[in-house]
Amino acid sequence: NKQHTVVIVGGGAGGISIAASLHKRDSALDIAIIEPAQTHHYQPGWTMVGGGIFKPDVTSKPMAAVMPGFASWYRESVRSVDEENNQVTLADGSTIGYQALVLAPGLELNWGGIDGLKEALGSNGVTSNYQEGMARYTWETVQNLKTGRALFSQPPMPIKCAGAPQKAMYLSSDYWLRNGVLNDLDIQFHNAGAVLFGVPAYVPALESYIEKYDIGLNYQSNLVSVNGPAQKATFRRTDAEGNTEDREIGFDMLHAVPPQRAPEFIRQSRLANEGGWLDLEDDTLCHKRHTNIFGLGDVSGTGNAKTAAAVRKMAPVVAENLIASLRKQPMKAAYLGYGSCPLTVENGRIVLAEFGYGGVLQPTFPSWINDGTKATKIAWFLKAKQLPALYWHGMLKGHEWLAKPARRSV
Ligand code: FAD
Repeated sequence: NKQHTVVIVGGGAGGISIAASLHKRDSALDIAIIEPAQTHHYQPGWTMVGGGIFKPDVTSKPMAAVMPGFASWYRESVRSVDEENNQVTLADGSTIGYQALVLAPGLELNWGGIDGLKEALGSNGVTSNYQEGMARYTWETVQNLKTGRALFSQPPMPIKCAGAPQKAMYLSSDYWLRNGVLNDLDIQFHNAGAVLFGVPAYVPALESYIEKYDIGLNYQSNLVSVNGPAQKATFRRTDAEGNTEDREIGFDMLHAVPPQRAPEFIRQSRLANEGGWLDLEDDTLCHKRHTNIFGLGDVSGTGNAKTAAAVRKMAPVVAENLIASLRKQPMKAAYLGYGSCPLTVENGRIVLAEFGYGGVLQPTFPSWINDGTKATKIAWFLKAKQLPALYWHGMLKGHEWLAKPARRSV
């Protein structure tokens, strides 16, 4: 039985960031990372690949290139957590013991939740920026489409980067507008939810783009099945009384987003909340029933927007509180639910939504630099030119710029 002081599950945005933040605070800490994947993805770049702005290769690096030298890397996946005995079991059956555990396995894209979608992806105009490697097909499809109907779907919340289904739609529409084919296209947004965006402050700016691109809005309309070869999609509509009706709609392009849930080994464990997500305290990010278990990133059941931007603010909080927990000291760092969604409304402008728990706005910049409720060029510059470097060289290396944790009143 191997043993480490800190075991981190997942080497994605959350896992690598927290390892770096822990090491920065205590370079003698014995840290292990369990991560089976050979490639690390910068998923926020996938929207930009789908819009023809980034080349696909800027969104990934070999896992070995981001894995910190100070950590022991197990190239395996975790099958289960035995929180009573402070150990995890790997897929090969071996176990690893820990004093403190950090869970950062991300979330699971539930492709099976939409009948026929997985098989349909990549041909007949069916695409999804959520699928690794598929964003380039989005861009190819957008460029080839000159006439007909384009559908964009959004599943029930929560999903990672709640704005991403719309981002794909706005960037595509902008391309069609610039190339003079927008008037020959019928663009429809089908949203399983009842509002355009969960935080009302950003809705007027988004609505102005809906109008500009003449996009049809269909609320409480959930994609349930796809027939790729026939180019038909079925949406289940729910009316105000809760009655449902299925409607089959023909398309020439479909950008679909699958429903999402916590990974199975979390969902089916005693560590999950009622919704299946990791049951963490909102402020400390410590598990509600185990003071030596922490979590960050998309797996978290806290009510923040599931984004890499959230991870950037969560990592210092977890690092500080985990070290306090190892030293039997009180946990003083607090996460206020910050998350950010840079809504790419056109090639060259972004509505930079930044908000915390309860939809409280938490802008990084004063409004004279960037007004987050408007589409601005400076926010585009940030996303297109600054954020990838901030991710690879800042966040993943433990540089905690503008991410100082709030203090708890203990
Ligand atoms: P991930 O980065 O997904 O990493 C999880 C890791 O855990 C993976 O490497 C996986 O292999 C590993 N893992 C899974 N299961 C196990 C297991 N059982 N054992 C061991 N390891 C395991 N965020 C933004 O901030 N801004 C954006 O503009 C933005 N746009 C996005 C657009 C798209 C299309 C998508 C898909 C996402 C976007 N995001 C954006 C969201 C962002 O990518 C995620 O919120 C972020 O990656 C979450 O980090 P994570 O570490 O929780 O999960």
